[in-house]
Amino acid sequence: MSHSLSSHALTPAFLNQYQTIRQHFFDRNPDRWPIYRTPELAQWLANGMHPMRADSDSLLKQQTKVPNQSDLSAKTLPNLALQAATYSKDWTSPHAVENVITAPCDPAIHGALLATMANPNLVYSEYAGLSVELEKALVRQVANLIGYDPNQATGIFTQGGTFGNLYGYLMGLRKQFPLSGQRGLQGQDFRMINSLAGHYSNMTNLGLLGTDIPNQVLRVKVDTNNRLDLDDFAYTLNNCLAEGIPVPTILLTFGTTDTFAIDDIERVYQVTERACQRFNTPVKPHIHVDAAVGWPLIMFNDYDFDANTIGLNRPTREKLQTLLPRIRGLRFADSITIDFQKWGFVPYTASLVMFKRQEDMEHLKQDPHYFSYFEAHKTEQTHLQSTIECSRGAAGAYGSYCALNMLGKRGYQTMVAHSLQNAEYLKAHLSTLPHCKVVAADNLGPTVAFRLYHPSPTLDVDAMFQQEQTLHKVGERIDSITQHSLFHRQHFLHRQGKQLKTNWVESIARTNFDHHGQCLFIPGEKAVFLNPYTRYRHIDEFITSLHPESVKQPV
Ligand SMILES: *Cc1c(COP(=O)(O)O)cnc(C)c1O
Repeated sequence: MSHSLSSHALTPAFLNQYQTIRQHFFDRNPDRWPIYRTPELAQWLANGMHPMRADSDSLLKQQTKVPNQSDLSAKTLPNLALQAATYSKDWTSPHAVENVITAPCDPAIHGALLATMANPNLVYSEYAGLSVELEKALVRQVANLIGYDPNQATGIFTQGGTFGNLYGYLMGLRKQFPLSGQRGLQGQDFRMINSLAGHYSNMTNLGLLGTDIPNQVLRVKVDTNNRLDLDDFAYTLNNCLAEGIPVPTILLTFGTTDTFAIDDIERVYQVTERACQRFNTPVKPHIHVDAAVGWPLIMFNDYDFDANTIGLNRPTREKLQTLLPRIRGLRFADSITIDFQKWGFVPYTASLVMFKRQEDMEHLKQDPHYFSYFEAHKTEQTHLQSTIECSRGAAGAYGSYCALNMLGKRGYQTMVAHSLQNAEYLKAHLSTLPHCKVVAADNLGPTVAFRLYHPSPTLDVDAMFQQEQTLHKVGERIDSITQHSLFHRQHFLHRQGKQLKTNWVESIARTNFDHHGQCLFIPGEKAVFLNPYTRYRHIDEFITSLHPESVKQPV
């Protein structure tokens, strides 16, 4: 599907909607949010982007001792702490499109602050009071969005998306090997299945769990858009189950970090059900979905695309509507990683792991004797005995609750659409550049991944990219990948920080798998539009910097 550049124009209805949401929830306006009038915060907000100041840098680096005396001067914050915050990365700059990092919305900042002051500890109801119910309310709301039964589902705020995925792997292991919490995994034969395009936390978690990675982890191939290859998946799973080898967890991705691929969760579920039936598998694999970045797309699950209330432009509306069955497929997951701290516009750390069936938590329960200093009848009110952590702060839950309930579905739809339209706009422009190849252009998400080639009159980027994908062995033609990559890399370094602050990615794409299942990685550049402040004009400036004329002398 190709659209003319003009079809990417923002509709007046959308502009109106965007302005409203932005002014109310993202503009740090002290008239709406008086906390921003606090002198130190106001000063920090006014300072904006700064080049690093050499002296504060060296002062901080030299500090080794706690002062003997109290600081009784009028300052509310140590000067060096203020300096560190001032010279931190500015995520409110419209140019910040680095990786899956966002600027939090005003309600989430206030929610997190409220939790910091109240200081409930979600580990145990006695230490958290009604905050336990706030976490539960939010979990029910998210369950509803996913399409889970909110009375059956449960969830836990945890230390990051990585921990969310850890829960997914752990749940599978405990279901499959109920004694492993006491006796470990020694001597157990099993295979974990995940996708080659999965986030690296897949591997760090498997290492943490003591998995024999070369022998017990099967990484399924992905298609050219980085989505799980369903044939390879079915083959892999059936092979294991046919031999009676348990598969504790299948870990899928809903929005990969670099190219925003969304795996077909419903089909994976069906293939798994069928295989379990066929081979009489006693304990089914646990299907965990890493939706750390991608989850906010579920805000569109019940969007009326005909009425199109928020005024999506045509290319984004059509693409999103086509993707809808995949998005709704999230409900087939047994558990899901959800990061509010990414596309949910909530400050760190705000990560939630959702479970379709609360009885699954029983599998994670530790020996009750460990919890003897908690009153037994109250330990049931929280997930105390099933969590990996002990103390759990409430800033993430409060921040997320305030964001969800103040922005509402409409507010989220607007800011998510803002990201999508920005990404599609950049892709459309990049596709017109003769020396640029957009990678996984068909995927819809906030991410744009691309590769620049040394301009030449005969260059055909599609043919070139295809050719690169067929390379395997080091040789003359591999050198051509390297040559173009070096050109792109130099160009990237030359532009770095001037327009959009994009990222360099060592594996934006890969060569086709050879008969050993091996492939080479192809590097490139990526922009992720989680930023609520980036507008088309910032993208226009960026595109200008990529034009062949500005490309000729990159260094
Ligand atoms: C960011 C990310 C993670 C890791 O989450 P953290 O919150 O950074 O620990 C996992 N999976 C995907 C797809 C991610 O984008």
